[in-house]
Amino acid sequence: MKYIDEFRDGDLARGLSAAIRQAAVPARSYHFMEFCGGHTHAISRYGVADLLPDNVRMIHGPGCPVCVLPVGRVDMAIRLALDCGVTLCTYGDTLRVPASDSLSLMKAKARGGDIRMVYSSADALKVAQANPEKQVVFFAIGFETTTPPTAVAIKQAQALGLKNFSVLCCHVLTPSAISTILESPEVRQWGTVPLDGFIGPAHVSTIIGSQPYEFFAEEYRKPVVIAGFEPLDVMQAILMLVKQVNEGRAVVENEFSRAVTREGNVKAQNLVAEVFELRRQFEWRGLNVVPYSGLKIRKEFAEFDAEQRFPVAYVSVADNRACECGAILRGVKKPQDCKLFGTVCTPENPVGSCMVSSEGACAAHYTYGRYK
Ligand code: SF4
Repeated sequence: MKYIDEFRDGDLARGLSAAIRQAAVPARSYHFMEFCGGHTHAISRYGVADLLPDNVRMIHGPGCPVCVLPVGRVDMAIRLALDCGVTLCTYGDTLRVPASDSLSLMKAKARGGDIRMVYSSADALKVAQANPEKQVVFFAIGFETTTPPTAVAIKQAQALGLKNFSVLCCHVLTPSAISTILESPEVRQWGTVPLDGFIGPAHVSTIIGSQPYEFFAEEYRKPVVIAGFEPLDVMQAILMLVKQVNEGRAVVENEFSRAVTREGNVKAQNLVAEVFELRRQFEWRGLNVVPYSGLKIRKEFAEFDAEQRFPVAYVSVADNRACECGAILRGVKKPQDCKLFGTVCTPENPVGSCMVSSEGACAAHYTYGRYK
């Protein structure tokens, strides 16, 4: 398949592996965070970590939309379905995220909740149009990639005059999460997470562009290389990061220039700004409450805001104490550091969110056996 096979070529991968080994200075180590779960998945699936020298290490970041969803937000969706009697539409991975009282959306469905899996916000809108007697809520999660389609759905609902469609908005922002990691005591004070640079997200950056990362490169002296999700993209980005570190540079470079520009998709950005505004506070799994890191629906569109329409206030809930998802999402621990990994907790029986989605670090390690 053109545009895919050429980014999975074994000979080219071996060449890049040799180039990274040659560029990496033996006397020092390199620690790079792959922010995005898509990169975590690619690194595990294609064995990229095994092609790196021992002194080049990859660290998981928090860029998996399902993983960072806190228990309290899933609880809200369950209350909407079970207590408020709405038809709740959600992406497939979200169905299996563990919630309070040993529930999940899947188990709530088994208890009689009208919970439906959809592939897009547009699908949820169709459910609302087809069922005018039901209140339909779209459980909207994800980073900047999935936010514009949610905005489109809300504007379409308004244009159609739909009175039975609303959105439980849980969209979050990538730059806020990167800031939180860079300001964390593990990185700034204790040095327990040595960080020499980031692989920047692929899909998110098609929307926000490469410009927002320039702040991190300038202020924190951390190089950022935006990379596509294919294995050669990731390896090329690692080589570019190693070279930046060797040369003492800290700038934003764009390996994924076939899809990402500095400005990003301005039309999508304007659409998001029209429908959403910043929340003062939003809780993330693993990162706790991060100021101005989530979006809420503007008051001009309040009739499509499920939090306004139904009595479901957010209540913070502690994670399962045995689950290390929080530390894994901050890059402090690896999945194998969790005592439940692969025994009590498996993709069939996930205890934490990182074992649910294919972008989750625990699921990726479990499925592909990444140990470096
Ligand atoms: Fe949580 Fe399961 Fe991962 Fe352990 S293996 S950190 S319980 S998701």
